[in-house]
Amino acid sequence: MEGALTARDKVGVQDFVLLDAYTSESAFVDNLHKRFSENLIYTYIGTLLVSVNPYQELGIYTMKQMELYQGVNFFELPPHIYAIADNAYRMMCSELNNHFILISGESGAGKTEASKKILQYFAVTCPMTESLQIARDRLLLSNPVLEAFGNAKTLRNDNSSRFGKYMDIQFDFKGQCAKELSINDKNDWKTVSNAFAVIDFTDEDLENLFGIIASVLHLGNIHFKEDNQGCATIPDTHEIKWIAKLLGVLPSVLLDALTHRKIEAKTEEMICPLTLDLSIYARDAMAKAVYGRTFTWLVNKINSSLVNKDFTKKTVIGLLDIYGFEVFDKNGFEQFCINYCNEKLQQLLIERTLKAEQAEYEMEGIEWEPIQYFNNKIICDLVEERHRGIISILDEECIRPGPATDLSFLEKLEEKVGKHAHFQTRKLAGAKGRKRMGWMEFRLFHYAGEVTYCTKGFLEKNNDLLYRHLKEVLCWSKNSILRECFHVAELKNRRRPPTVGTQFKNSLSSLLEILISKEPSYIRCIKPNDGKEPRKFDELLIRHQIKYLGLMEHLRVRRAGFAYRRKYEHFLQRYKSLCPDTWPHWHGRPAEGVQRLIKYIGYKPEEYKLGKTKIFIRFPRTLFATEDAFEF
Ligand code: ATP
Ligand code: MG
Repeated sequence: MEGALTARDKVGVQDFVLLDAYTSESAFVDNLHKRFSENLIYTYIGTLLVSVNPYQELGIYTMKQMELYQGVNFFELPPHIYAIADNAYRMMCSELNNHFILISGESGAGKTEASKKILQYFAVTCPMTESLQIARDRLLLSNPVLEAFGNAKTLRNDNSSRFGKYMDIQFDFKGQCAKELSINDKNDWKTVSNAFAVIDFTDEDLENLFGIIASVLHLGNIHFKEDNQGCATIPDTHEIKWIAKLLGVLPSVLLDALTHRKIEAKTEEMICPLTLDLSIYARDAMAKAVYGRTFTWLVNKINSSLVNKDFTKKTVIGLLDIYGFEVFDKNGFEQFCINYCNEKLQQLLIERTLKAEQAEYEMEGIEWEPIQYFNNKIICDLVEERHRGIISILDEECIRPGPATDLSFLEKLEEKVGKHAHFQTRKLAGAKGRKRMGWMEFRLFHYAGEVTYCTKGFLEKNNDLLYRHLKEVLCWSKNSILRECFHVAELKNRRRPPTVGTQFKNSLSSLLEILISKEPSYIRCIKPNDGKEPRKFDELLIRHQIKYLGLMEHLRVRRAGFAYRRKYEHFLQRYKSLCPDTWPHWHGRPAEGVQRLIKYIGYKPEEYKLGKTKIFIRFPRTLFATEDAFEF
């Protein structure tokens, strides 16, 4: 039909693998844009789901939609987050293995909303026993509680998660009792307090918890002044009294601990006054430690309330809502940690995707060319290697006696990893790169692109030390939650607690251990504009994210082998109407039916391969043409 618009021209293709110019970023953006303009926020790259935040309710999460996607073949319906959830569930049921769904993207891209949609889908559609139902209810209710304490309004997102979240959803698919849950995701007070009751919180817990939160707010109001000896004082003790009352400590002791520091000499203890700067540091460290540890306490408490008392072996689907790659004008210690995390997750993705591809080709008896890809292990090593990686070098600077500074840390980096191909500083860059870098900065060449980090604050943030004096105050608090968070034993332990960088590295490594044993599904979320506006597609911003989310690379990997594979039955079912031999029914073996069908529609030998149970199609355009013939 010459001149007529095909469906593809208008709404784009529902899988990037079907794009003709698949290596071109412009074609990618164009396809995303077309679909976004039609309110089609989901697009696949094979089995990976790309989602663009619509910033408006689209009416696509109804019960009807949930029913539609239940048990349907992945590619038979338009892309949807329910298809990803359902696919993970079906695969888990048929293969009896564990899965995880990794949701990534930058702040405000829609990760937490996506994880809630998946939870709701499972809650509504999957059969479960009573004990699992209770665990599932609790999991759903833990969300508003964690959000109330772990989220904050930021410039980029009104409800921004300030923590990475991994949850296991347990299934018992042999059970019967599917039940609809009423979910109220308005993050209001009533929801949170109801949720607390369901996850076993007592009134005393709540009083203590809110006391702590209020005290952190009051801490922010404390102002210091400098006396004529340069020591910090607190002229107005009004706030101190409140905090002391809320935390169950003596006001005079608290005041003393915020303005003095205990120094231990060999045989005696000395009390020294703090300077203004150090007092401010002590106050902030106290607020961070109190809030941070209380949040950990809360997570542990929720986790233990989620432990299923029914000990029969269950399969799980893990849900990971984690911060995506971040590149700002100024990048600090936080971005360094976040980007390191993404580097590790990318490694997992490449390994798992390639491994799965290879296993499948082998199983199906298909010959194929090994896929060339950039293995980012070299960057992970640069960051995390023991004794030689950036985190170790930073830790060494933090414990080294003598005056260590952010600059001396940078110099150590130059000395120890200066020759690494993925590392650069102004000094090392030579005349060409110098202009774009400051004295305090180093640059890492991440898999997703280069990021320049400013070392300012690295030492302090990595140390995040709470003075012993303040720790003592908190250990003796009358608030029972605080007493659980700050142990007296810690005071006796003369060893330094692990640094923030090392703690981050360790928890990341435990997370990866959990993930590596599971089958992955991926959701990549994109933020369409900075103004939280519906229907606005900021192309530049989106191009950045396509790059940092590694989408082109994923597409390339996906395309390097066979773009499409389908079980013979499914292929035949979808396209049988194109061939008189197979329409309306084919009674022979599906593989033979497919052979007749593709012969009739004229597939060339280089376009496909026939495996044991599936047809493998090399180029998207082949399937593309078949789809078009099928549509018109
Ligand atoms: P952060 O990393 O800061 O936690 P995030 O990726 O978790 O960000 P969300 O909190 O999930 O971002 O989404 C931000 C806002 O975008 C939501 O509060 C909601 O208003 C809107 N939003 C996200 N996804 C959708 C969706 N599928 N439909 C409608 N609105 C959405
Ligand atoms: Mg979030």
